[in-house]
Amino acid sequence: MGGESATQRKPISAYPVRAPKPVGQYIANIYKDRISQFYAKGQWENNNLNAMMFEGVASGEPHVELSVWDAPGQDRPTFDEAVKHEFRKTEVGAWFGPAWSTHWFKVILTVPKDLRDKRLLELHWDANNEGMVWTHDGKPLQGLTGGGERTEWILPDSFRDGKEHTIYIEMACNGMFGAAKGGDIIQPPAPNKHFRLDKAEIVAVNPDARQLYIDIWIIGDAAREFPSESWEQHQALKTCNEIIEAFELGNKDSLKKCREIAQQYLGPDVDSARVYDTKKGKQPLVFGIGHCHIDSCWLWPWDETKRKVARSWSNQCDLMDRYPELNFACSQAQQYKWCKQLYPHVWERVKRKVSEGRFHPIGGSWVEHDTNMPSGESLVRQFLYGQRFFESNFGKRSQTFWLPDTFGYSSQLPQLCRLSGMTRFLTQKLSWNNINKFPHTTFNWVALDGTQVICHMPPSETYTAEAHFSDVKRSMSQHKSLDQDHTSLLVFGKGDGGGGPTWQHLEKLRRCRGISDTVGLLPRVSLGGSVDDFFDSLERKADSLVTWFGELYFELHRGTYTTQANNKKFNRKAEFVLRDIEQLATIASLKEKDYKYPKKEIDEMWEATLLCQFHDCLPGSSIEMCYDDSDKLYAQIFKTGAKLLKDACKALSVFEVETTSMERGITLNTLPWYREELVEISKGEFGLAKGVGPLLKLQQYEIRQEEDGVKLHKQSNGVFVLENKRLKVRVEAGTITSLYDKYDRREIIPEGQRANQFVLFDDKPLYWQAWDVEVYHLDTRKELQSSETQVHEEKSHRVSVITKTKISDESHISTIISLSAAVNELQSYVEVQSTVEWHETMKFLKVEFPVDIRNTEASYETAFGIVRRPTHYNTSWDMAKFEVCCHKFADLSEHGYGVSILNDSKYGFATTGSLMRLSLLRSSKAPDAHADMGSHTIRWAIFPHTGSLGAMTVRKAYEFNNPLKLLESPHDFAALDEQEPPVWFTDNSNPSLILDTIKRAEDDEDVSVEEDESPLKKKKGQSVILRIYDSLGGRARGTIETRWPVKRVSKVNLLEDEVEEVTGFDVAEGRFEVDLRPFEVASYRLELA
Ligand SMILES: [Zn+2]
Repeated sequence: MGGESATQRKPISAYPVRAPKPVGQYIANIYKDRISQFYAKGQWENNNLNAMMFEGVASGEPHVELSVWDAPGQDRPTFDEAVKHEFRKTEVGAWFGPAWSTHWFKVILTVPKDLRDKRLLELHWDANNEGMVWTHDGKPLQGLTGGGERTEWILPDSFRDGKEHTIYIEMACNGMFGAAKGGDIIQPPAPNKHFRLDKAEIVAVNPDARQLYIDIWIIGDAAREFPSESWEQHQALKTCNEIIEAFELGNKDSLKKCREIAQQYLGPDVDSARVYDTKKGKQPLVFGIGHCHIDSCWLWPWDETKRKVARSWSNQCDLMDRYPELNFACSQAQQYKWCKQLYPHVWERVKRKVSEGRFHPIGGSWVEHDTNMPSGESLVRQFLYGQRFFESNFGKRSQTFWLPDTFGYSSQLPQLCRLSGMTRFLTQKLSWNNINKFPHTTFNWVALDGTQVICHMPPSETYTAEAHFSDVKRSMSQHKSLDQDHTSLLVFGKGDGGGGPTWQHLEKLRRCRGISDTVGLLPRVSLGGSVDDFFDSLERKADSLVTWFGELYFELHRGTYTTQANNKKFNRKAEFVLRDIEQLATIASLKEKDYKYPKKEIDEMWEATLLCQFHDCLPGSSIEMCYDDSDKLYAQIFKTGAKLLKDACKALSVFEVETTSMERGITLNTLPWYREELVEISKGEFGLAKGVGPLLKLQQYEIRQEEDGVKLHKQSNGVFVLENKRLKVRVEAGTITSLYDKYDRREIIPEGQRANQFVLFDDKPLYWQAWDVEVYHLDTRKELQSSETQVHEEKSHRVSVITKTKISDESHISTIISLSAAVNELQSYVEVQSTVEWHETMKFLKVEFPVDIRNTEASYETAFGIVRRPTHYNTSWDMAKFEVCCHKFADLSEHGYGVSILNDSKYGFATTGSLMRLSLLRSSKAPDAHADMGSHTIRWAIFPHTGSLGAMTVRKAYEFNNPLKLLESPHDFAALDEQEPPVWFTDNSNPSLILDTIKRAEDDEDVSVEEDESPLKKKKGQSVILRIYDSLGGRARGTIETRWPVKRVSKVNLLEDEVEEVTGFDVAEGRFEVDLRPFEVASYRLELA
């Protein structure tokens, strides 16, 4: 026992024995909510960080002197035109309008003495609409978007001299999303909308306050969004609260102190691009790329898009000068062309940034087009015109097909991409599916023919990311392909209405990166690379990526196959007109020395057609103004087309006529197979066109026996039977109650049912009117009743009956059902032509064909192929396809027999069980209040056929869309050269092979319109490009013969680069073999001697 000794322990820390005070835990929700109060506007703004944001503001005269010139109407004058006018004085608070008008402001700025030495001087301009800052001598500098989107322009240092400096601001009276009234952007524009100039002032910004604002915003996001079971979340909350406590109103030094606290969480480098210097072992996972999605038209017309391009791209060039990590990718060759033509100063800046590797032209297509409806050849031309523009202007083609916003992706795109030099594809629209979640982020997407591309769908699920903390976080948490690869792209920048990244986006991303490297948990974001860099690394893993075969069906926006019917009809027509013209001009240019291949006009027609295929134009989701524009463009296409057709015909010594006689009549045929068709040559008279080749002589069609013709019997009042050698059709009250195939001895309409029955549905989708038809519309089906059917025409070769159908007091249909003589037992179809007077609201008109055919799948023509889709609703994936896209036909076949429904201008279809249904007209009221109102003429045909879906359907659909044209010639037919086709498939070739395109090669010296210094070099000699595809999905062999003097044949890609020489080409016979994979698209170049 002893007393206390020297070795007794002394206290080893200052830790007090007794608790000096109670200390509580943060009450999470309250401490989190407090964070935004630190930088919120409203009742706090005079006492929080906002109160220290600016060190001085100068507004009104003499510092900001405003005068304006109002451009008349909807004119969009150039700078030079505008500044010539007298400007009147104006001021903040004034209103400008109406919607779509333009106002030019002369802004004279004099920086007051007390602001001259401040660190950052900006002009703040907010008129709640869009604008462009111009120098006093007409250089566009930077875009502005009101409503706080992008309202600052940094004053050059030269303005700090106390003298007057003049700039101009071009004001466009529309917002980023057009000019709708109120908050619902898809409502039609309000013509009388006016915009108030809320702000025009010189502001000295306190950079510390501004930076602190971004600091606490992002750390606050970490506090709000990191999981509460993570220490990183608790640390973020603590840091924010410490910042708030360190802040002293009015004390500038306290801002610095606050920022030091912030850096404990963000790291020391967030004020520069240094933050992105990757340290060892800290590889980035999320690759940010600046982007600006500019819809070529949507809630604004093309002419406004041209200005949006200049505004958005000049912003990016400006931002790149201040943020060295910013790289920017932008698509749509058309927009580059506009920029080049209309804004040479912006174009030069863009070109400089392109050459520095900062501004990345991407996408390889003319516009970001729809892919459901354009024909195969249109898709080819999107790439051909897009890639050629990029190559011609930037010396480089795109490697990535870029379509973030298009409404579904047709099944042959991977093949066409690869044939256009692109191995990658980016989209994200499928994240909008409202039935099934698409299961992959990164995968190999495989076309009908087996060709693949790497597809990436950014897991942040947007192409207009605001670069929020949550966007970076979602890039990992929503990544669906983590088993294979965990990297992703983050596509950030304001978009749809243009804009692109802002300084806020870049500052936020610096802090996100800072968090990853300092605290962790957030996926590490990196900037400064390219989309190609990202895909390069994916490509190395391609073997391990999962595969998706066939179309990327979009489970939303199914109404876009039908809305804006005229526009869709014009698209189909333009595609056929261009096909005819290229083929005939090719023939003429090789025949007549004096005939010049009209490359310039053809380019103009194609570029216009491709523009109208933009993903809000062709699908029908734009405002009325856009369709006024596209109507004009199509009218120009058809006008030029008519002229070119006339010129080509003249070179072939023929000319078009309305009527002719049997002796003089010739028909023009551009389809590459044997045709034998009856053609009406004058009222009541018809001739038989028969043969192959561009010009078919008319002959007498002999009706030797009664059944060679066609008959019409009246069975009872309003009940008629139309009968030819092949078919017997009973029409009753406008519907077909019996369709009997005499050859196959088979009734096609099920007992008691009616084909060609019009049905009307209520069509009120959840929100996107022009875009969507929702599944529940099917529950509202109503059959339309027709009045008595009457005889319309009764000729020996063709009979028709006509029926009127009432839709409502305002709307009605007049329908002609016709049957022609079945020539030489060829398979025959029932033709229908309806003229619809359409004045409905939110109704959907369709026509139904119940058929006695059973199959769990129906077939639909798509670009260069056929897609099979379920006829049942087994799973939600099957059911999601309750409305699908088809091109010229849809087909339901069972073994041995089937029925095809052909059409001349429609794209929406559904097959449910044995019921086939063609979609005709919708009546959405937003964003176009008058969409589809008025008169429409629509043709379709019911084509029952022996055997399952085959070449006959494919050919009939082409013929239905491309009827023979009546011609005459001053010469004897025998004297004409073009009786024989210049190029054709021999008889033993597989009939599924379609020779779809005949054109001159782009770079032939007598064709090319490229300038001499273009990297696209002219080639000596003449050559012809042929495009062939297998239309039915089987190995297809055939022999091509030509009577042109061809010396060499090569297989080329879609850009007309040689892939390989065709070694088996028989020069003497002008003959070579083709052997295509199922659904392969193959192009050949024939070089002429
Ligand atoms: Zn878009």
